[in-house]
Amino acid sequence: MYSNPAPFWEKGANLRDYGVNALFVHGGAITSQLMARAGEEGARVFAEFPTWNGKGYVERRPEAWPLNEKGEKAPAATWFLGVCPTDPGFRAYRMQQLHDLLERFDLAGVWMDYFHWHAQFEDPDPVLPETCFSESCLAAFQASSGIRVPSGTPARRAEWILGRHERAWRRWRVECLLGWAREIGDAVRRRRPGALVGVYHCPWKDTEYDGALGRVLGLDLDRLAAAVDVLSPMVYHGRMRRNPEWVGESVEWLSGRVNSKARIWPIVQAHNDPRAIPAGEFERVLRMGAGGGATGVMMFTAHAVASDPAKMEVMRRVYRQWQMA
Ligand SMILES: [Zn+2]
Repeated sequence: MYSNPAPFWEKGANLRDYGVNALFVHGGAITSQLMARAGEEGARVFAEFPTWNGKGYVERRPEAWPLNEKGEKAPAATWFLGVCPTDPGFRAYRMQQLHDLLERFDLAGVWMDYFHWHAQFEDPDPVLPETCFSESCLAAFQASSGIRVPSGTPARRAEWILGRHERAWRRWRVECLLGWAREIGDAVRRRRPGALVGVYHCPWKDTEYDGALGRVLGLDLDRLAAAVDVLSPMVYHGRMRRNPEWVGESVEWLSGRVNSKARIWPIVQAHNDPRAIPAGEFERVLRMGAGGGATGVMMFTAHAVASDPAKMEVMRRVYRQWQMA
């Protein structure tokens, strides 16, 4: 289950009775009591780690605000606001949070979330801006590519890069995120040997939205799969205005697409937004999410399941059935 299990426990339910063997909980919501109770009920705890969610940080530290191709602060992409991933202050802040989390709790793993450059892919109409043209990003791009960007206004420099060195720029953007993934992975494995490193990621195919997965979000699926133990595509069919079958197709596509040892544990939608997801439909996406080469599945969210007795029953029945198999 994904999200804080408190609503599930408030129903008097026990994880073991429902066949739940893993919880994915926001790092900030993990407590010693939660760890202890999950352990008693046979579930391991994984921390969701909001890697490049800039909200709450960039307002206080504007130097970390992602800049668009005009050199201006990129507006929020509907409800999401990213961050400049090369800002040294932000990087130190996030890595410290990770170290504190690993120090405090015996986690079964860490799941990187918001693993992309500033954009919005969870809505049916994606927001796909060009970022980040900050001084620190331009410096990192130049150091990595050996390309000298002429001086000028941020807008002129962005235009020059996109006009003359677009490929190198997009390659560097992918590399930049992978550098973080490697550092996070190393920290997790060093402090908690045996713990898994996973990533929640955009479920698009490489070619959708004119290649926006690599071009804008900065994801190279092969290299991402090589950098983690588990891929968790966010197949939110209701939010992305797709049909339930799309969940199964996406998981199957990803299994064939990625040639690596990485496991696939998708996250499917139980949450009633922007429309109600009936219990029967939840069952279909839960089953499809666990098919097609996947070896695990979770749902968004535990709260959505706990607030609907029919969804609780679906989860119990499906998970118990898999346990017996
Ligand atoms: Zn930047």
